[in-house]
Amino acid sequence: MSSIGRPVSPDQSNKLLVIDDQPDLCEFISEAAAGLGFESKGVTDPEAFRRAVQEFQPSVVVLDLQMPGADGIELLRYLGERGSKAQILVASGMDQRVLATAQQIGKAHGLQMLGALQKPILLADLEATLRQCLSSDTPISAAALTAALDKREIIVHYQPKATRIAPNRWIVEGVEALARWNHPSLGFVSPVRFIPLAEKNGLIRRLTEQVLETALSQCRAWDAVGLQLSVAINLSPQLLNDLAFPDQVARMAAQVGADARRIIFEVTESAAMFDPGTTMDVLTRMRVKNFGLSIDDFGTGYSSLKQLYLMPFSELKIDTSFVRDVFAHEDARTMVETMVLLAHKLRLTACAEGVESQEVLDFLDSVGCDRAQGYFIGRPMAGTALEIAVREWNSRQK
Ligand code: C2E
Ligand code: MG
Ligand code: MG
Repeated sequence: MSSIGRPVSPDQSNKLLVIDDQPDLCEFISEAAAGLGFESKGVTDPEAFRRAVQEFQPSVVVLDLQMPGADGIELLRYLGERGSKAQILVASGMDQRVLATAQQIGKAHGLQMLGALQKPILLADLEATLRQCLSSDTPISAAALTAALDKREIIVHYQPKATRIAPNRWIVEGVEALARWNHPSLGFVSPVRFIPLAEKNGLIRRLTEQVLETALSQCRAWDAVGLQLSVAINLSPQLLNDLAFPDQVARMAAQVGADARRIIFEVTESAAMFDPGTTMDVLTRMRVKNFGLSIDDFGTGYSSLKQLYLMPFSELKIDTSFVRDVFAHEDARTMVETMVLLAHKLRLTACAEGVESQEVLDFLDSVGCDRAQGYFIGRPMAGTALEIAVREWNSRQK
């Protein structure tokens, strides 16, 4: 039976535990959490943390990576050993690479890693992240997700991807399809939440088919009004172990008369790629069928150089974490520039994600990045709104 709609039981309620050796930061985070409806508790030393994990049973843990007497990595191991089901956020003043590695370590311990908070922590960022944890706490089950697929509650939003057709001229020629669960009582549930649930419960193939089907029919609707756009679909690495997948997507595209060249599959790396031979077979057959293949979140723990070198990608997507920091850290600028160069040397298109300002777009222009995606160009939105937004954006580029 679906657990949606049932009252939240106490062990699943919104309880946030923060550990940070700086008492003022602990207080800042606990207060922000309390303001959002969490029961919150802050501790400054590892012993108190271990006690609180047992007695308080948090549903969300915010963990400082560097503390005297213990480090966050040790505490991640402790949470893993206890089989903690809490959503975990790591906080640190260290660079993005350390934060990304901590995420990987947490996942290897079987923990639900929700993301990272880069210090200094801004209140708006903190609240936005914690809100995600709040809704994450409302129990959703595999049965509820199955019912949602039956009822077609998984809908698709589209985010514009702009192509640099000349210096300082970025025209939207494509979109990325992003799944949302339009839940009758919870509102929009984030894919960050239900994709892992789909992957764990054998529902990811069905979900992907629905997203692809919806996106292809949306493309036809745009075609009908004279808007020709390519569409990128996110693929769970699990599907790359399915030898029948390339033929199935080719059939689906042929049925609606869609040109494979206008469909790009975005993939990340994961433990699910346990069989590199099969993955390579599937990806190569997709390329042979003329689908585009993009390596998503490149530069994070989810996409590696080895994967880039081995697999037949056509696009490299530079992760948001680098793009967002180009004006804060010189290293991030170097990374973005180098990733663009690497993509070009490997004859791939470079696409930057997370472009939130004109300045960042100008920087990408100056380093010759081919594509850009982010809130500055357009947020993910419904198909009809997208049409208007794209026309507006493109008309300003003339
Ligand atoms: P992704 O494929 O890397 O998608 C980009 C994410 O970054 C999207 O979050 C998008 O809303 C967000 N984003 C775009 N521009 C900006 C920006 O300027 N600033 C910031 N801060 N964020 C930006 P979203 O929609 O929540 O999706 C999260 C992830 O969920 C996706 O990451 C993708 O890995 C996964 N996902 C979404 N739809 C599907 C799907 O149909 N199938 C699979 N397997 N995964 C999906
Ligand atoms: Mg993507
Ligand atoms: Mg990405």
